Amino acid sequence: MKLFDVYPLYEVTPTVAKDVWIYDKEGTKYLDLYGGHTVISIGHSHPEFLRNLKNQLDKITFYSNAVQNPLQHELAQEIGNISGLSEYKLFLCSTGAEAVENALKLASFHTKKRKVISFTKAFHGRTSAAVSVSDYANIRSPLNNQHEVEFVKLEDYEGLEKAFAKKDIAAVIIEPIQGVGGLDQPSNDFMKFIDKLCKKNQSCLIIDEVQSGCGRTGNYFAYQPNSISPTMITIAKGIGNGFPIGGVLISPEINSSYGLLGTTFGGSYLACTAALTVINVLKKEKLLSKIASLEVYFKNRAKELSAIKNVKGRGLMLGLEFDFEVSDLRKKLLYEHQIFAGGSADKNLIRILPPLTIKKQQIDMLFDALKIIL
Ligand code: PMP
Repeated sequence: MKLFDVYPLYEVTPTVAKDVWIYDKEGTKYLDLYGGHTVISIGHSHPEFLRNLKNQLDKITFYSNAVQNPLQHELAQEIGNISGLSEYKLFLCSTGAEAVENALKLASFHTKKRKVISFTKAFHGRTSAAVSVSDYANIRSPLNNQHEVEFVKLEDYEGLEKAFAKKDIAAVIIEPIQGVGGLDQPSNDFMKFIDKLCKKNQSCLIIDEVQSGCGRTGNYFAYQPNSISPTMITIAKGIGNGFPIGGVLISPEINSSYGLLGTTFGGSYLACTAALTVINVLKKEKLLSKIASLEVYFKNRAKELSAIKNVKGRGLMLGLEFDFEVSDLRKKLLYEHQIFAGGSADKNLIRILPPLTIKKQQIDMLFDALKIIL
């Protein structure tokens, strides 16, 4: 059997990875400034991560959500503590799209409404409701297009009011920093306006932190400098450092009932162990407190290169904007300088999403390589 061919692939076959480094089958060493798409938070193969997962494997790997699992309670407690959102409740699943799908479904259950407001260039995943609120028509099938979604531009206050005026709005969903879209960010004022309109219209506000969460910006959640109170927050990617885990943080105004949501794999022993280890390492290695200075360092180094027109994003979710398409530049970084960097829907933007353990010397490697290439 052959694979269903949906991914354009680079000619690299990683076999071993350690911290910010990836080694391919020939033993070539690559610097990972992409983190497997914002997934690697505490570094590849962190010793504590490996030890804890191996220990858990020796005890019990899986059972269903029909039995007591103290690790799920421990994880909820720890996410509550590190995010400062202890009053929220946690629903566990396995991927980002599943988190978004459940958040949208719950918003609709709670409000008994059907429509969703999303934003241009938003990306929220590929399951049915999640892809319907993603602004990429080419990845939506006729089945997905049955959902009723209004797309509004970021910072379009009037457009948002008009969308709410159409009534029946179950939720507004927004990324605090657009990932796939190319690192545009809503302003604090716009976030506050969304929050206000959601409350006025009894609609849910869903903040999608699948990519920007888990400390990537220095705050545990990227929305937290904004003065808003979301109804739900979706998480995935970095919380498991490569072990598939997703979740929805749900504010106390939403009540649970048996059977309302469910999944086979969500919150497995291994997933909880992975996520608990990530939080423990973030705290022990004080990784979040180092992010602000890494961001400043990165932005200063970017100023040295006149070809870089703009630096977008925050913390370690950063983008370098050029006035030309960057696909060749990314290939040169990879094949000539052994550096993984990300792309986005904006063809002129390189996305830098490294493990949160990155050091200044490794940021230097990127800019030294860019200097040579440019
Ligand atoms: N939300 C956001 C903001 C994302 O960036 C992504 C993935 N790129 C998703 C949801 C979907 O996550 P997954 O691929 O784990 O389903």
